[in-house]
Amino acid sequence: MEENRKKGTLYIVVPCYNEEEALLPSANTLLETLGGLRERGIVSGKSRIVFVDDGSRDRTWELLVQLYNAHEEIVGLRFAHNRGHQNAILAGMMYAKAYCDYTITIDADLQQDVGAIERFIEAYENGSEVVYGVRNSRDTDGFFKKLSATMFYKIMRFMGANIYENSADYRLMSAKALAALSEYDEVNLFLRGIIPDIGLASSVVHFDVFPRMQGTSKYSLSKMATLAADGVTSFSIKPIRMVFGMGILALLVGFGMIIHIVYEHYFGYTIDGWSSILMSIWVLGGAILLSLGIIGEYVGRNYMETKHRPRYYFWDVLSHDGQCHAQAKKEEEVL
Ligand code: UDP
Ligand code: MG
Repeated sequence: MEENRKKGTLYIVVPCYNEEEALLPSANTLLETLGGLRERGIVSGKSRIVFVDDGSRDRTWELLVQLYNAHEEIVGLRFAHNRGHQNAILAGMMYAKAYCDYTITIDADLQQDVGAIERFIEAYENGSEVVYGVRNSRDTDGFFKKLSATMFYKIMRFMGANIYENSADYRLMSAKALAALSEYDEVNLFLRGIIPDIGLASSVVHFDVFPRMQGTSKYSLSKMATLAADGVTSFSIKPIRMVFGMGILALLVGFGMIIHIVYEHYFGYTIDGWSSILMSIWVLGGAILLSLGIIGEYVGRNYMETKHRPRYYFWDVLSHDGQCHAQAKKEEEVL
């Protein structure tokens, strides 16, 4: 086991969307980094860099073809159209799964410090199946990005998703973690939430973030909003429960109001019709919200069920009929 872990095959997965400016400098840095790791016997000669072109409309693919022709370490995958950062990362990892011992995902602008790669590998060699990159500071981000990111993590945590604050998609995943991830076949992906959900041994590596050197951010406001919505809705039905809670609250207020209204009606001064209208607003409003919450609860459960998430995933299997990995066993059964 231990020898297997030495000199693993690393696949670096890089999502690219309209990255014609950043691609070549980044590819050179990554090739250099990978070359260094190979020379020092840290990773195997079969290690690769997988660029996933997320339906770019600029020269990204053209440049990737050039890179592919010049270097045997380069692998290029291309989407027919823009499917988003999360899908690009997932596609790269799922491709790599068949060939690698572990993948590391990193952005094409290399804002994340490639120097941390070695520490990711060290953590893997010490037994982590997933190594999360957590950024040191957000000093390089503008005020708006900083604020929106902080809010995002706070809301996500509140909504019940189990994510590390400031963990980017700079992450190492072992082949085993990738096999487990492949069992999550939901369409709306939020990797930062799903990966901790798998529950394999993990650790954290801190890294520095630099400003983007070439090109501009490909994460538009609408893309960030979609990511946040995916994050919240793919992980919890808490928003529905909030409607339910609001319904109960409105009903309670409604009953309080009934007492108040009856009192005013007999002892105070009220305009004709005020009492009956106000009572129906509160009581009916509460009843409607509550019913919505109840319906929502069923819809929400249905939603969680349709994801067909795996109920569990074996970490290890010990059996005298041969020790086998959960994934291997599953494949045998299919045959
Ligand atoms: N990206 C992608 N598809 C998209 C948007 C972005 O593959 O629809 C990639 C992009 O090429 C980069 C990474 O996701 O490699 C992060 O994007 P960016 O650096 O623009 O985001 P920021 O650092 O500004 O949050
Ligand atoms: Mg960036």
